[in-house]
Amino acid sequence: MNLLVQLAYLLGTALFVLSLHWMSDPKTARRGVFAGAIAMLVAILATWGEPDITRHLWIIIPIIPATVLGVWLSQVPLTAVPQRTALSHAFGGLAAGLVGTAKFFYWHSEPGTPHLTPFITFAILAEVILGFLTVTGSLIAAAKLQEVKWIPQRPWVYRGQNFVNLAALLLAVGLGLLLMWFPGGAWAPVLFLMVVFLALNFGWMLVMPIGGADMPTVISILNSYAGLAAVAMGFVLNNKLLITAGALDGSSGLILSIIMCKAMNRSFTNVLFGAFGQVQSTAVAGDQKIAKSETIEGAAQIMEQAGLVVIVPGYGMAVAQAQHRVRELYDQLTKRGVDVRFAIHPVAGRMPGHMNVLLAEAEIPYDKLMEMDEINPDLPQADVVLVIGANDVVNPAARTDESSPIYGMPIIDADKARSCFCIKRSMNPGFAGIENALYFADRTYMLFGDAKQVVGELVKQLSGQGGH
Ligand code: NDP
Repeated sequence: MNLLVQLAYLLGTALFVLSLHWMSDPKTARRGVFAGAIAMLVAILATWGEPDITRHLWIIIPIIPATVLGVWLSQVPLTAVPQRTALSHAFGGLAAGLVGTAKFFYWHSEPGTPHLTPFITFAILAEVILGFLTVTGSLIAAAKLQEVKWIPQRPWVYRGQNFVNLAALLLAVGLGLLLMWFPGGAWAPVLFLMVVFLALNFGWMLVMPIGGADMPTVISILNSYAGLAAVAMGFVLNNKLLITAGALDGSSGLILSIIMCKAMNRSFTNVLFGAFGQVQSTAVAGDQKIAKSETIEGAAQIMEQAGLVVIVPGYGMAVAQAQHRVRELYDQLTKRGVDVRFAIHPVAGRMPGHMNVLLAEAEIPYDKLMEMDEINPDLPQADVVLVIGANDVVNPAARTDESSPIYGMPIIDADKARSCFCIKRSMNPGFAGIENALYFADRTYMLFGDAKQVVGELVKQLSGQGGH
């Protein structure tokens, strides 16, 4: 039986690695998701099959509400996936924290506490600190992404904040060290609960000062904390699969955070302590800028006569669920011999790969999806750039305005095209809360309205069903 369990663990590990590998390419991503789900099922069944697991009812009872909750969470719209992911991390952290707490109290009640060696106590403390700080941190991150009213979107900052946060963390680590030396002491449970309390507090204090615009990066950092908590739990429970799966989770979360920071030209410390995302007031008195708008007929005419049209999708396309209309627009234009390509910014939308997922769902050929660095050199030759619900990722201030909070962030050079149409509902700013100079440029024309509706009207016009 034990051999079977070990073989199943090996299979689970291999599937987790393959899953990550497949998920890195849109063509194989679906296979990657299935491999990950099967790996998780294998892991659960193999652990359940361990010879020392005897109280099966205690496993069946929580599986029922967890399945109901999981199915419910899987129904959220694609635009809510970032906050759903944050909730999943909160659950992961909670599981690690509770297992660590249960193990500590169980082993502490044994005479002589033979199990609480310094190494195991260290692993429990790492599990509990990382697990519980992930819980409250992820809940705040989810609430900010969901734009819950009673949680401020803006960074919540006060003087000496970093000092207070650091002091709380150091206190938790200090108490943890004391516990490692005297795990069997009568006051050890009190110290342990103080560590739990500090970790829970540290989590929300860590995330509150970070603005809404940085939440996806924070989520991916919390993902890596949850992974590391799972690694520590693997050592506590002596479960190798937990160690490998947790390490994969932890490292992939960290790599993703680094990729996102690079795409936004920000450093890790800047994301965590920089208070980015404060809504700026950019209106300058007397500076009356006017954005020009265009009619659907006019835009359709220019597009059908173009040689190269580059579509830049953004968060607005996701909210409007306009991807299928965009596919129809692609079909109409390619039918007329127009070369249509898609410019994908690495942080367009609210999570990495957001645009790829939506466009793949609408079955737009993968070879038409170009990465930012690949498409930017072609943009001066583009007759039309059509920006659909994207804002910050095409804001030229990132290149030109040193005072802008997004200065230095690589952008898609939509302003360099021969003409540019921007679909959005109003002149409101994007996620970073700043004005976009692109809308006031000479060659830019606004197409105001909901992305799905406007693209639908463009399709109608091109297919000859539109009115004149
Ligand atoms: P933005 O949030 O900058 O802009 C989205 C635009 O869509 C808004 O200007 C909004 O304007 C418009 N919009 C909203 N709803 C609709 C609708 N129904 N129809 C038409 N337009 C709509 O999105 P971007 O994709 O350009 O930029 C992503 C932002 O997220 C960046 O700031 C990036 O740094 C940040 N971010 C992304 C991460 C990632 O991993 N993807 C990670 C970290 C941060 P209006 O309200 O007028 O319609």
